[in-house]
Amino acid sequence: MNDPGCTCPTPWPALTTVIEEHRYAVEPAPVHTPASALYLAHCTGCDARYTGPWRRLGAPPRAA
Ligand SMILES: [Zn+2]
Repeated sequence: MNDPGCTCPTPWPALTTVIEEHRYAVEPAPVHTPASALYLAHCTGCDARYTGPWRRLGAPPRAA
């Protein structure tokens, strides 16, 4: 897969994901969470797919 990545002036200014029709703000994480293993996050600026691990903002790492 050839992923162009984020094209914003500041890469990945913010991330969002949609899980079961609910939109959540997320942030990059050092390791995958159960949610990030199943769902892709997207850049809020250009909607590029963020393929790395992420976690929900404000959520405990294991409860993402
Ligand atoms: Zn972007």
